[in-house]
Amino acid sequence: ISSKDIVEAHIKRIEEIEPNINAFITLNKEEALKAADAVDKKLRNNENVGVLAGVPIGIKDNIVTKGMRTTCASKMLENFIPPYDATVIEKIKKSDGIIIGKTNMDEFAMGGSTETSYFGTTKNPVDPSRVPGGSSGGSAAAVCSNEVPLALGTDTGGSVRQPASYCGVVGLKPTYGMISRYGVVSMANTLDQVGVFGRDVKDAVLMLNAIAGHDRRDSTSSRRSNSGVFIGDDDNESINLLEGLKVALPKEYAEMGVSNKKIQVLFDEAVKVFERQGAKIDFVSIPHLKYALETYYIIMTSEVSSNLARFDGIRYGHRAEDYKTLDELYTNSRTEGFGEEVKRRIMIGTYSLSAGYAEEHYKKALKVRTLIKQDYDNAFIDHDIILSLTSTMLPFEFNSIINDPVEMYKSDLYTVPINIAGLCSMSIPMGKVDGLPVGLQITGDRFMEKNIIKAALGYE
Ligand code: GLN
Repeated sequence: ISSKDIVEAHIKRIEEIEPNINAFITLNKEEALKAADAVDKKLRNNENVGVLAGVPIGIKDNIVTKGMRTTCASKMLENFIPPYDATVIEKIKKSDGIIIGKTNMDEFAMGGSTETSYFGTTKNPVDPSRVPGGSSGGSAAAVCSNEVPLALGTDTGGSVRQPASYCGVVGLKPTYGMISRYGVVSMANTLDQVGVFGRDVKDAVLMLNAIAGHDRRDSTSSRRSNSGVFIGDDDNESINLLEGLKVALPKEYAEMGVSNKKIQVLFDEAVKVFERQGAKIDFVSIPHLKYALETYYIIMTSEVSSNLARFDGIRYGHRAEDYKTLDELYTNSRTEGFGEEVKRRIMIGTYSLSAGYAEEHYKKALKVRTLIKQDYDNAFIDHDIILSLTSTMLPFEFNSIINDPVEMYKSDLYTVPINIAGLCSMSIPMGKVDGLPVGLQITGDRFMEKNIIKAALGYE
């Protein structure tokens, strides 16, 4: 079977089910077939091919792709065609992976349901009356529905892990600095990180290995990311990976409990699996966890307000036709180009950063961020991983909480602290409640991906 056969089969699958799922904003059919031909040619000539040879990959539409529209699911960038590839795209191409298209998302990655996309919502393939999660909902849905075996997303506060949980696939957010952000449209640059989706842990790790590494074009990418700590194919399958693993459960989460009893039962069973396989389970305290949501929503919105200032109708994207002065051009372009959630966050962030309020909000949030980070540092002195749920909820129905932003923000309780502390974390399927997937979140210390991967492989 040739790469071209594989790509053609996936395109056929995509064309069949896209009308029901809407996981993609843009398809890259012609170019994908050409790329597959090139891989087949290499194989015929007995040339070396990369680890992703012939694998169709979906890319979240906030990662820039040379010559291919990159919209961030916003009217603002509806017709934006980038002149260069993000580092992660270069790396995929170098590994002979096939970029099959750009996936749907919440506008500028702001949201948890893919309902804020300018290009319509994506449906959860498990139950099309429900959201796939977000903001990388298109990528999660595409992997779940076998449109692609692998996809990229971005995770600022949970946008890879939460949709992975809702769609019943694996979603891995690496340590901040592990993957280059060059060419990734910033939402909140101190929190953003590219993440990977796969149907199982090994697939996700394969992709992670292909795209990780230091990049001098991103000053926040770390040299520690070059150490290549990932478990490869040669690992002995008969080894019990959970034996002796030191597992922490934050007692703050245990005290809060979960509103749905059936979810709690699933989680308790998952912990028992670890225990039975010889893992050591302990409770730890993350005392500042209770401030994590507020801290996130101040820091994130502040950075959003600054990062999105570049969309002014002059340099990028949508330009209003109707204006008299330069200020009016800016205002009208932004008024027309951005959706409601984006505007809400720009306004909150502008307020938090403004003179007189920055001390009270933004600067205080930075201090609490340090405290949260220290709590996790302490927890990881004696533990390899932290276990929790990925989301407070099951995949919900369309239009159910989108009009209640605070409710939506509260659902990020388990995922945002990890971005605040820059840790690595993944969501893996843990079972179903009422037919809907539930994810288990496995979190590790900075640059300790090998621990969460080991735990996930052992549990899977
Ligand atoms: N749901 C979170 C938010 O709305 C996460 C977003 C993200 O990770 N991009 O901010």
